[in-house]
Amino acid sequence: MNTSMNIAIVGAGIGGLAAACLLHDAGHRIRVFDRFDAPRPVGSGLVIQPVGQDVLAQIGILDQTVARGAKVIRMFGHDADHRRPVLNVRYDPKGVGTFGLGIHRASLFDALWGAADSRDIPMVQNADVTASAGGFIDFADGNRHGPFDLIVDASGSSSKLSPLIAKPLPYGAIWGTVDWPETSLPRDELRQTYRRADRMIGVLPLGAMPGADTPKAAVFWSLPAGSYDTWREAGLSAWKNDATTLWPEIAPFLDQITDADQMTMARYTHGTLRKPYRGRVVFIGDAAHRASPQLGQGANMALLDAQALTAAITHANGQDPLALYSAARRAHVWCYQAFSRVFTPMYQSDSSILPAIRDRVMYPLSQISPTPAILTALVKGTMIPPLGSLDRR
Ligand SMILES: Cc1cc2nc3c(=O)[nH]c(=O)nc-3n(C[C@H](O)[C@H](O)[C@H](O)COP(=O)(O)OP(=O)(O)OC[C@H]3O[C@@H](n4cnc5c(N)ncnc54)[C@H](O)[C@@H]3O)c2cc1C
Repeated sequence: MNTSMNIAIVGAGIGGLAAACLLHDAGHRIRVFDRFDAPRPVGSGLVIQPVGQDVLAQIGILDQTVARGAKVIRMFGHDADHRRPVLNVRYDPKGVGTFGLGIHRASLFDALWGAADSRDIPMVQNADVTASAGGFIDFADGNRHGPFDLIVDASGSSSKLSPLIAKPLPYGAIWGTVDWPETSLPRDELRQTYRRADRMIGVLPLGAMPGADTPKAAVFWSLPAGSYDTWREAGLSAWKNDATTLWPEIAPFLDQITDADQMTMARYTHGTLRKPYRGRVVFIGDAAHRASPQLGQGANMALLDAQALTAAITHANGQDPLALYSAARRAHVWCYQAFSRVFTPMYQSDSSILPAIRDRVMYPLSQISPTPAILTALVKGTMIPPLGSLDRR
């Protein structure tokens, strides 16, 4: 399987486009299928951590994405009632991984799409994949393509190929993109404000959209998963009043929201495939594991999966490359899934005990050495080697 393979990639998202570029560079023949009718990212912004930045560098688009994004050097959160800090994690001021890259999905997508396009990787659009068997892929319009030596399912959280059944989380968030306004808030920090764990508002600096110079910000507001309609019915003024009472500095960001449609509801789920491959299909990214974005790792995980899969195929040396990929990623994925499961309810839940532990126990502990360095490694994605045994090759 480590000679040149005929590979189909389902999903031209973050993981799919990264896998397409890396597997192409490793000498394989690639074809990418996506259900969209035109290249299109969805959603607002995200943070690419240093481990994910390494993958962008391998693809050759790190400088471009750094130029378009915003360098985030600290994540800082405070309690709304007492104005006390309850989260304070800094990237290393020097050395490897000095920042998280805040970037709008459109800019990241544009860079990845351009990288695939410049490699002449064939992209098939309007291709809604419904099933696969024996190396063939079936589409909603009745077409069938194949056979392929390998099918990479990178179709994200709505994958129709992945057997993963993820658990819905009680809280999601509404997300919107606005211009970075005149404000005293620093443009190199992710800022959040909480009241217990049932209220959270945050601002993430993003850099510019493709082809533009205006710096942007993502604004997010935590909502119980089933309460989006209630939020709309209550009206924007009620929400802005609530939010600015919690955090007055958010006002110039929210002033730019004049229509509820500017905020998109994202619902979160949590789950992990025990075995991320089945027959000739291998699962990467959200098709293999899903978590809330609390630790800011989902896109990194998709990028690392793409990197690990390519390395596993390249270095298989007679072993089953899919088993090698699975083993290489297992510890890192499970570690981050476990941390996400523990931390998410501290920031998004109806509990009053968990946020009290967060503020009175965890925050003070987090400021005592060596915990700051451990938390930085957790956020950077380097808590444990991301590619397991493949890291040493
Ligand atoms: C609000 C929010 C904020 C987030 N913030 C962060 C963050 O700060 N940092 C971070 O690392 N992660 C973050 N994440 C998570 C991150 O966005 C995902 O983990 C990441 O996008 C997963 O990449 P992927 O390639 O698996 O899937 P996606 O990027 O979702 O791509 C899936 C692709 O598959 C296509 N597709 C779907 N179904 C089909 C089908 N049937 N046939 C063909 N094509 C199909 C879709 O059109 C899409 O192009 C956040 C997520 C959300 C919702």
